Amino acid sequence: MAAVPKPENPLCFDLPKLFKREGRAALEIKWQLENLSTSYSEAQHLDGQLSAESSGEKIVVSGSLLLTWSGPCRRCLETTSGVSELTISEIYESDFSEGETFEIPLDQTLDLKPMLQEQILLALPLTPLCADDCKGPIPEEYPAGITSEQDGEDGEDDTDAPIDPRWKILGTINFDEKETN
Ligand SMILES: [Zn+2]
Repeated sequence: MAAVPKPENPLCFDLPKLFKREGRAALEIKWQLENLSTSYSEAQHLDGQLSAESSGEKIVVSGSLLLTWSGPCRRCLETTSGVSELTISEIYESDFSEGETFEIPLDQTLDLKPMLQEQILLALPLTPLCADDCKGPIPEEYPAGITSEQDGEDGEDDTDAPIDPRWKILGTINFDEKETN
């Protein structure tokens, strides 16, 4: 059965309790997000289950979560929404190294919030699109070039190597917008 955190602090888990019986626990994540956004899209909620595994001095938190987001379509500017998958694989340790692993706090309360916030910001789409074939606001005058972005799912690209699942999320990001600042 999954460990369900306290309702007032839905991302904090008490470690001694978590690992009381065995070295592995499932963490139920249900996070209604507020005020977490980039200039392109806004996080709505995060759902799923992570597994925490205690191995020696370390705790490995891994699994995949679904992030629901919303934002303006980059072509027609209508508000659109979507779901992105977050693949989590992070290490918590007392002797942590900045930027690589996360610290296990002295009070043994594992707070997943900072780590998940980081992951969400990386997963939010930079260029949301309401539909693959969105034609933009005035297609008669300004046809949107959709052919260059189609991913060849009709079987023409069958020479492609399978994509490492850890990179799959990056495949959903398009860097076709220029920074204006
Ligand atoms: Zn659109």
